[in-house]
Amino acid sequence: MIYPIVAYGDPILRKMAEEVDENHPDLQKIIDDMFETMYKSSGVGLAAPQIGKSIRIFVIDAEPFAEDEPGLEDFKKVFINPIMIEEFDDKWSFNEGCLSIPKVREDVERHSKITIEYYNENFELVEETYGGLAARIIQHEYDHLEGVLFVDRIPPLKKKMLESKLRDISRGLVKTDYKMKFPKRK
Ligand code: ZN
Repeated sequence: MIYPIVAYGDPILRKMAEEVDENHPDLQKIIDDMFETMYKSSGVGLAAPQIGKSIRIFVIDAEPFAEDEPGLEDFKKVFINPIMIEEFDDKWSFNEGCLSIPKVREDVERHSKITIEYYNENFELVEETYGGLAARIIQHEYDHLEGVLFVDRIPPLKKKMLESKLRDISRGLVKTDYKMKFPKRK
């Protein structure tokens, strides 16, 4: 099932998402639907709050970035109940976008490496360290579970300049080739 993507301005994107347990109803179905929804909207990552579920799950398929960074061909993963253990090493800037904030892209500075602990699709606890674009996507998706969006991580003046664009998005005044759910649409 393909969900509409929750747009900027919906309070669910600002909530701290809740942990899920292994017996969460339809857990596998939710994960499958998240991948399906992400592919439909040509995203490389999707967090559960973006389909209206305030639970700590995100999915990633970084294959579209494999051209820029070999090794990402098979980077398809689900992260359940992740905990960011550490973000470290030099900061670097990357032009980010978000399915919930269509047609907005901004350079965001983040640490280049991370160590994260999470449950995989078999509910096994794993701890892994990532760098490069894999780390970048994970940081962006992890933020969603904490109620943080990439536009919160740009300089205040730049965010100010985005205000009207963001307001338009929350009102549904944006065209996308995937379905969205707008908070303030009349
Ligand atoms: Zn996003």
